[in-house]
Amino acid sequence: MTVRTRIAPSPTGDPHVGTAYIALFNMCFAKQHGGQFILRIEDTDQERSSKQSEQSIFDALRWLGLDWSEGPDVGGEYGPYRQSERAHIYKQYVDELLENGHAFYCFATPAELDAMRREQIEKGEPVKYDGRGLQLSQADVSRRLAAGEPHVVRMKVPQEGICEFDDMLRGKIAIEWSQIDMQVLMKADGMPTYHLANIVDDHLMKVTHVIRGEEWINSTPKHKLLYEYLGWDMPTLCHLPLLRNPDKSKLSKRKNPTSIRYYQRMGYLPEALVNYMGRMGWSMPDERERFTVQEMVDHFDISRVSLGGPIFDTEKLDWLNGQWLREALSVEQFADALQQWAFNKDYLMPILPHLQSRIEKLSDIASLAGFYFAGMLNITEAHFQHKKLDKDGVIKLLQFALWRLEVLSDWNRESIFAEMKRLSVQMELKVGELMPPLFVAIAGTTESISVVDSMALLGPDISRARIRHAINVLGGCGKKKLKKLEKEYDALDRLECN
Ligand code: GLU
Repeated sequence: MTVRTRIAPSPTGDPHVGTAYIALFNMCFAKQHGGQFILRIEDTDQERSSKQSEQSIFDALRWLGLDWSEGPDVGGEYGPYRQSERAHIYKQYVDELLENGHAFYCFATPAELDAMRREQIEKGEPVKYDGRGLQLSQADVSRRLAAGEPHVVRMKVPQEGICEFDDMLRGKIAIEWSQIDMQVLMKADGMPTYHLANIVDDHLMKVTHVIRGEEWINSTPKHKLLYEYLGWDMPTLCHLPLLRNPDKSKLSKRKNPTSIRYYQRMGYLPEALVNYMGRMGWSMPDERERFTVQEMVDHFDISRVSLGGPIFDTEKLDWLNGQWLREALSVEQFADALQQWAFNKDYLMPILPHLQSRIEKLSDIASLAGFYFAGMLNITEAHFQHKKLDKDGVIKLLQFALWRLEVLSDWNRESIFAEMKRLSVQMELKVGELMPPLFVAIAGTTESISVVDSMALLGPDISRARIRHAINVLGGCGKKKLKKLEKEYDALDRLECN
């Protein structure tokens, strides 16, 4: 048997460090067994998926050296590797499940399902689909289908007994069937849900080992059932522990940057970041801290993964990156690393026109543009003196701007400006009053290149991180303050709608 593993990200946002971590372990496992590691794009959620996000996943994983032998961009024997291009394949299996009585149609409207859930909550019952679609007669179903009523297809799930399955790290896992919902397999738009598409693809792509995050354990009973319904063998399962913030909560961008691009722009070496990920729950047999991916492959043993939640701690990462910079690179390689990071035409060309028109000597660029080559800036509360707002007002402004910029999907100067302009109107400020705190957060001073241009050039990750940093420099937002601000922020859009 050839070992085949995969990473199956959904292209719905920034390329996440969690994706790279799971990819690394899948790649090591496959390579160690002389097998293949493939990349599949799970874009069945058409509204949230984007080509931009897909591309940034490819770029980020490649930057880290996590290469795949089959995938949407490189092709392969079992393609297409993008789920949105496989709708016809899933349809065939949904039909088979319906025909064999393992799945059923459900015509319940979202409003009906809401009412059902409300009733269950009132009665103190567990909230789950109550099986109403199963009560419909065959004639009723045919009539409603013929009339073109919107519907979904759900899978049948036993309501009693226990589902047991094996996990490479956790041994036997048992989950009561009563906790498992009759999952939607095909949505009203004809697209499959993750659960169906995922198992069909794993089977057709001959995936032998599914190595993924532990958040999928509770979905496994549904998957096991689908494999049984379709008469297929289930791949071997391995659920890796989730990455955590230093306070043990699930890794989140509120507490830790999660986008791989952030680490790239900050100037971490890809070798160091991937090395650090290899230390998430795993260690070399000789416990050495610094190792390459190839060394990890050579010594890989998945059973050495420990289940205590691995902490993604940027201070430790800094330390390891420093080790790499100091001990692993020759001066020549150090020069190459700098060049790859920022001293190259790709990064410089869009910045230079802004500098050329402002300087008198080449050396002026150090003070004018140093912030393009910096991480977090050395700023203090005093930098944020505002002619109209007090400290809390400035914190509010920065936090609101941050929330706006966190959901901005097209990161360019026009869209950034449009959002900031809209925010200034909503906050009853002039643009010239809204911008200065952002200016300081991004550039460390208000005398520099237009802040909107700078944000566009620095990219979303560093820009957002610097605004977060500025909020912290000003004392930060406690939980209570944040709640209050959230309410005010939500009201901004409502006011606009009225
Ligand atoms: N698309 C899922 C995700 O985004 C894949 C989960 C799995 O590996 O089964 O994490």
